[in-house]
Amino acid sequence: MVGGGLTGLFAAWEASRVPGIQVVLLEKDLRLGGKVQTFAFPDGSHLEMGPDSFLLRNPLFLEALQSLGLTSSLMEPRSLSPFIRFRGRFHRLPQGLSGIAPVDRRYLKSSLLSLRGKAAVTRDFSIPPRKMPPDHDESLFSLAARHFGEEWAERVVSPLYGGIYAGDARELSAAFLQPQWLKDEEDQGSLIRAAKRRMKRGKGPSPFRTLPGGLETLVQRVEEDLRYRKVEIRKGEAVLRLAFHGGKVRLMTGRGDLQGEGVVLALPAPDAAALLEDLDPDLSKLLRKEVWVKSGALLLRVAKADKRAAWEAHPLWQGSGFLVPLGEGAIITGATVFSRKWPGLSSEAFHLRLFVGRRHEEEALELGDEALFRKAWEELQAWAGPLPPPDEVMVSRFARAFPQYRVGHGRWVQAVRLKEKAYPWLVLAGTSYEGVAIPDAVGQGREAGRRGASYLTGRPQPPSTS
Ligand SMILES: Cc1cc2nc3c(=O)[nH]c(=O)nc-3n(C[C@H](O)[C@H](O)[C@H](O)COP(=O)(O)OP(=O)(O)OC[C@H]3O[C@@H](n4cnc5c(N)ncnc54)[C@H](O)[C@@H]3O)c2cc1C
Repeated sequence: MVGGGLTGLFAAWEASRVPGIQVVLLEKDLRLGGKVQTFAFPDGSHLEMGPDSFLLRNPLFLEALQSLGLTSSLMEPRSLSPFIRFRGRFHRLPQGLSGIAPVDRRYLKSSLLSLRGKAAVTRDFSIPPRKMPPDHDESLFSLAARHFGEEWAERVVSPLYGGIYAGDARELSAAFLQPQWLKDEEDQGSLIRAAKRRMKRGKGPSPFRTLPGGLETLVQRVEEDLRYRKVEIRKGEAVLRLAFHGGKVRLMTGRGDLQGEGVVLALPAPDAAALLEDLDPDLSKLLRKEVWVKSGALLLRVAKADKRAAWEAHPLWQGSGFLVPLGEGAIITGATVFSRKWPGLSSEAFHLRLFVGRRHEEEALELGDEALFRKAWEELQAWAGPLPPPDEVMVSRFARAFPQYRVGHGRWVQAVRLKEKAYPWLVLAGTSYEGVAIPDAVGQGREAGRRGASYLTGRPQPPSTS
């Protein structure tokens, strides 16, 4: 297994359950977990440097959580909505959204939309159900604009998706990221009607959860399990090249060579491309085509009581934070008030995450930590007025933060999978392909482990259960 993020860890977890398979996991960093990084403070509170929650979805992920004994203490976030910073002002996100559809008339009160923009929202009701061609795809922006008008797409959908994928809604694939909405259009025409119908069947509690000790608890639990099953874990060992001779895979690492019968590359596609350059230049070129964006965050901690009171009372921090659409000319792309979102996790401190860097706006990450903070701090003060400086600031940076599933992503995945078939000993896995979130990484990792084990044992392995 190459890559010790969630995908690689769960590929190892799955494969090591099959008798007779010896798994070696290679991770270039000195720690496991990849993007999952929890920073713990001495007072017992913590901040997440990367992801902070997961959706309760994907049976393979839920089953893994259960098997690792992590389901009894899951925490739910407080349900709060963000502000949107648009043309130099903060506005509340329209209330009453289900996905991107406004399911009641509260959006009419929003200062984010003009009268004309509000009127355009009812366009949705005039869209008839229609059968789409099987390979239909369009951008999330185009889907939203057809149903609710350009303003809704620009001021509501763009900031939401700019926040989730650090992406550009004009490029992101609806077929891959929100296939349900295209299906809703096929069945109902109107996305509002479809959303209301779904809500009638019952609106459950928030499907987001986190782990009380931070998401790295998941990494620690799976690492313990892997060690118990005698998986050899090699940290600080990057794989530099890969070859296949005489029925054996050869991995060249900074510490020497390693031979095996098969390999799972649990890496972003451009990183896998670098390893496959000699073996298959065409596959390597195809993998490099996937666009990833750089992104990062400034993590601000305000612990001293007087300062904390000033931050906590500020009107901007009464929601979940804010989002900034592309093109506002700002380096801050959004903010999450971590201590409001997760009230049980921040003990006595006020914790805020300010996001920087996304598609078309990655330059801010070229700055050093101090300059980056200075610039973001100036911007925040200009927007929010004077605030007491934080007591601690940390910077997290991800050179490959989010893959951009652009329109046509489905065809790219098909092309990759077709070329991969020529090498039955090779499995390409990770969030480059079939889903970018934690449940997807775990599910794809387990599926990769199962595929690898099927090849090695010569018989199809069913997904194992605890
Ligand atoms: C800022 C941020 C916030 C996010 N928030 C959320 C969220 O709230 N909820 C959610 O569900 N998802 C979120 N995600 C997505 C989630 O973090 C990822 O889906 C998941 O962590 C990806 O895991 P992975 O194993 O596929 O990749 P990675 O975590 O990137 O792991 C890949 C690993 O491979 C290693 N590696 C690379 N090259 C080599 C090599 N040549 N040899 C050996 N090792 C190598 C890397 O060091 C790394 O450890 C977020 C992502 C980011 C960046």
